Amino acid sequence: MAYKTINPYTNELVKTYPNHDDAYVEKTLSKADALYHQWRNQPVKERTVLLQAVSDYFTAHTDELAKVLTIDMGKRLSEAKGEVAICAAIAQYYADHGEEMLQPQTIKSSAGEAREEKHPVGTLMMVEPWNFPYYQLMRVFAPNFAVGNPVVYKHASNTPASAAAFEEAVCNAGVPDGSCTNLFISYDQVSNVIADKRIHGVALTGSERAGKKVAAEAGQNLKKSTLELGGSDAFIVAEDANLEEVNKVATSARLYNAGQVCTSSKRFIITENHYDEFLAALKKSFAQVKWGDPMDDATTLAPLCTVSAKEKLQAQVDDAIANGATLEYGNQPIDHPGNFFEPTILTNITRDNPAYFTEFFGPVAQVYKVKDDAAAIKLANDSDYGLGGVVFAGNPKHGAEIASQIETGQVFVNTYFGTLPELPFGGVKNSGYGRELGHLGINEFVNNELVVVNPEPKVDFENTFGGFV
Ligand code: NAP
Repeated sequence: MAYKTINPYTNELVKTYPNHDDAYVEKTLSKADALYHQWRNQPVKERTVLLQAVSDYFTAHTDELAKVLTIDMGKRLSEAKGEVAICAAIAQYYADHGEEMLQPQTIKSSAGEAREEKHPVGTLMMVEPWNFPYYQLMRVFAPNFAVGNPVVYKHASNTPASAAAFEEAVCNAGVPDGSCTNLFISYDQVSNVIADKRIHGVALTGSERAGKKVAAEAGQNLKKSTLELGGSDAFIVAEDANLEEVNKVATSARLYNAGQVCTSSKRFIITENHYDEFLAALKKSFAQVKWGDPMDDATTLAPLCTVSAKEKLQAQVDDAIANGATLEYGNQPIDHPGNFFEPTILTNITRDNPAYFTEFFGPVAQVYKVKDDAAAIKLANDSDYGLGGVVFAGNPKHGAEIASQIETGQVFVNTYFGTLPELPFGGVKNSGYGRELGHLGINEFVNNELVVVNPEPKVDFENTFGGFV
C-alpha cells in the first residue's frame, strides 16, 4: 500500500509517505492500551477539558489545516475551511456535554439499587475514507476520547497528509501520547490490529466492499463494529412543494465536495407536476458551475480525488447510457490535467438499468419522474441503501409524514442535508449500522456496566431475584 499525495488539480506527486512497520504498530498498541487502563480510573472531566483545547486548536489553525485537505484530495478551500470548522464544533460539543452524557443512569428495579455505569471498553481501530479526511476522524475520536477509548487509525492511501496533520493537531492541542495515532499500514496489518487482544472495537467509514471485509474480521474476533457506508439518497419533491425553495438547494445538494459525499442527493425524485420545471432549472444551474483551481474562491466545482475515481464514474455513466438512460446534460470531457468531471444529468433510468441501484460518487444527478407522493416514497425505498434523504413539501407536516415513510437513517425536510455534532449520523440496509455523533455516537463503544446493590444486608435468594432463570 503506497501512501501518497497526488494533487488532484495537477495530478503531480506531492509526497510519498513510508509505511509503518510492525514494531511501530506494536509500540502504538501498547501505549494506547496503557492509556486506556490509566483512563479507567480518571474522571471524564479531565479529558473533556482537553477536547476544548482540541476545538480551539482547530479553530486557530483553520487556514493551514484547510490547505492540507485541498492539496490532498482536491476539495475547494472554502469547503475545506468548513470541514475544519465542523471538526472544531464536534470537539466542542463533546467537551460541553461528554461528562453529562456519561453519567450513570439509575434503573428502577425490584432487585435493589440498580444503575448502569458507562465505562470505556479499550482501544478502537478506525478505517476511514478520503472524502472528509478530518471530519471522519473527529466523529469517532472526540466522543471516544471523552469515554476513555484511545483510537488508532488507518486512513485512505490518497490522503496521507491529512491523516498525519490530524494526529499532529490533536497532539499539539495537548492530548496524551497514545490517544489518537495514525498508522500508515497495509490491509494485512489492519487485519492483525483488528485481531489484537488490545483492540476492543472497529469503526469503518467507506465502501461496502471494505465494510464487508473489515466487519467480517471484527466479527471473527468477536469485536463490535460500526459501519458508515455508501448511499444513494433520495431528494423528493412532493406534489405541494415550493419549487423556488427546492431550486435554491438542489444543485449544491448534488455538487458539494464535487459530489463525493455519502449523503449527497443522488436521486432526485420529482412528482410530475414539477418535473419539467425542475429539470430545466437543474440544467440551467449545472451549466453555471465554474470548474477550476480549488484554491480559488471563484471556483464552484473541484476536481475528483483521483484519476481512478474519475475513470470509475465515467464507466458508470457510459454504462447507464448504454442501458437506456437519457443524457440530459453534461458528460463532456474537460481539457485539463486535473480530475475534472462535467456535472451530468441522467433521466429515464429504468429499474433494469444497473445505474438504478448504483451509487455515483461524483457530480452526476439521476432525475426520476413519478406520478404522486406515494410513488415517490415507493421509488425512494427501492434502493439497496438507506443513509440520508431530503424531502421538499409545501406543508412541513406533510413533508415530515413522507420523511417517516422512507427507509433510511436520516431525513431533512424543506432544507438541505446537513451534519451537526448533536445529530446522530448513520444508516440502514447496505449503508451500514451504528451511529456516529450526538448522544448515540458516544454510546457505541461503551460498556454499560450494570451494578445492582441489595440495600438489605441479608440475602433473600428466592424473593429478591426470583431465582435464576
Ligand atoms: P474504500 O475504498 O472502502 O476506502 C475507505 C477506507 O477503507 C480507506 O482507508 C481504505 O484504504 C480502506 N480499505 C479499503 N479496503 C480495505 C481492506 N480490505 N482492508 C482494510 N482497509 C481497507 O472507500 P472509498 O471508495 O474510497 O470511499 C467512498 C465510499 O465511502 C463511498 O461509498 C461513500 O458513500 C462512503 N462514505 C460513507 C460515509 C458515511 O458516513 N456513511 C462517509 C463518507 C464516505 P485504502 O485507501 O488504502 O484502500
